[in-house]
Amino acid sequence: MYMKPRLNVIWNEIYCKRCIICVEVCPVQALAFERDEIVERPGCIRCYQCERYCPDIAIEVMDEEKR
Ligand code: SF4
Ligand code: SF4
Repeated sequence: MYMKPRLNVIWNEIYCKRCIICVEVCPVQALAFERDEIVERPGCIRCYQCERYCPDIAIEVMDEEKR
């Protein structure tokens, strides 16, 4: 299981190169890099910035119906 569901996003630990761009572009600091993983904290406004700026297609905002 490489696609790890978070609250609003799905993170792919294999594709992710730990550049932390997603952490930096998130406008509400809902993402963090902890113990070699991207984790999601409460507060995501589903703006899709993380998905848009990730260079490795490693983070994706989940569809509403999958939450
Ligand atoms: S932007 Fe993409 S590759 Fe970079 S840390 Fe975030 S999920 Fe990983
Ligand atoms: S969708 Fe927006 S608010 Fe939610 S984690 Fe990604 S960048 Fe942050």
